[in-house]
Amino acid sequence: MDRIVVIGGGPAGLSAGIAAAELGAPVTLVERNAFLGGRPVEENYASITPYLEDAAMVMGRMEERLRAAGDVEVLLSSEVVHAAGDGPYGLTIRTPDGERVQEASAVVVATGFTHFDPGRETQLYGYYEFPDVIALQDLEAMLKEHHVVRPSNGEAPRRVCFIQCVGSRDRQIGNEYCSKVCCGVASKEAIEVRQLLPDSEVFIFYIDMRMYGYWERQLYWPAQEEHHVQYVKGIVTEVLPKDGRLLVRGEDTTMGRPMETLMDLVVLSVGMEPSPGTRKIAGILGLAQNKFGFIEAQQPPLDTVGTSRPGVFAAGAALGPSDLEDCASSGGLAAARAVALWRQHQTVGAR
Ligand SMILES: Cc1cc2nc3c(=O)[nH]c(=O)nc-3n(C[C@H](O)[C@H](O)[C@H](O)COP(=O)(O)OP(=O)(O)OC[C@H]3O[C@@H](n4cnc5c(N)ncnc54)[C@H](O)[C@@H]3O)c2cc1C
Ligand code: SF4
Repeated sequence: MDRIVVIGGGPAGLSAGIAAAELGAPVTLVERNAFLGGRPVEENYASITPYLEDAAMVMGRMEERLRAAGDVEVLLSSEVVHAAGDGPYGLTIRTPDGERVQEASAVVVATGFTHFDPGRETQLYGYYEFPDVIALQDLEAMLKEHHVVRPSNGEAPRRVCFIQCVGSRDRQIGNEYCSKVCCGVASKEAIEVRQLLPDSEVFIFYIDMRMYGYWERQLYWPAQEEHHVQYVKGIVTEVLPKDGRLLVRGEDTTMGRPMETLMDLVVLSVGMEPSPGTRKIAGILGLAQNKFGFIEAQQPPLDTVGTSRPGVFAAGAALGPSDLEDCASSGGLAAARAVALWRQHQTVGAR
């Protein structure tokens, strides 16, 4: 029997799978990892915005909802390797037990993002050279263990800074887009560092702060007013080692003067790029991609999930930078569109 196939078991794929199954359709969810939960689980996020809830617990709740939602089959360590037809599709899925073909009246692609590699091209922040230069996801993993230290010597840092827009809003490297979550995530992590290490000083160097919607009130103002995080409008041009610490050099654009300051830990707020899985599945299904490699929605802004192939919808960060609310919304919409098609196929089949 035809099923709805959801590819990717992160926040967007889980939302899509839950919604489709709760609407009464049979769902097969294909996840290449041996576990569900996407990046928040794979990268050991400590907590999620805005209420600092434990990330693994939130994703665990989603998984429970999915498994209780109805006719749901979860295939872990599995991948779609071939697609035949033009909607419905015959999808060849490689599982640990071998290959099988699944008829799909609709497909939801939720294959997500990868972090920008801060060692690439024009980046002069020394991610691979200096152990005390880390990225947002590295700090998340330390926060999860309640153990934030300088990797070089295992000591608690006294001065910590975040550098925003690493790999985003950068025309030179071709990523002209804003990655949407990093201002909020850096503010959340800054609050958590201040809570864990009350003697520390925490700075955020930014071009401009982009706090969407309620995050302004939930994260940005509390970070400053309650947790004394210091926001500095400026451009950091390089990070260099000095006297066992890190010299952060750039320009304070509010004051219009050069800036040099010593830090113990530098956190790069890396942006989002399409995951290798997103690029691969776009090739297998023949989906149009935009110039950055994300899957291209065909009729935005009011149809955000329809792709260039009939019956194939996309959700979450496979479509472009997204936060969890975006993922839940686009996952739900993609599921509704997929279920509508599945119902049409059932009706035609029953005639
Ligand atoms: C450090 C950091 C912290 C963050 N914290 C927050 C936060 O607090 N709040 C917030 O709103 N957002 C946060 N985000 C953003 C959040 O991580 C994303 O919005 C979310 O993970 C995107 O979900 P997704 O399901 O689209 O993709 P992903 O989380 O990337 O999941 C995609 C899934 O698809 C699987 N997959 C990929 N390719 C294939 C394939 N070909 N076949 C089968 N499976 C495949 C992957 O293994 C993965 O499980 C954070 C991001 C970063 C970088
Ligand atoms: S969210 Fe903030 S840090 Fe991230 S790209 Fe946009 S402006 Fe830069």
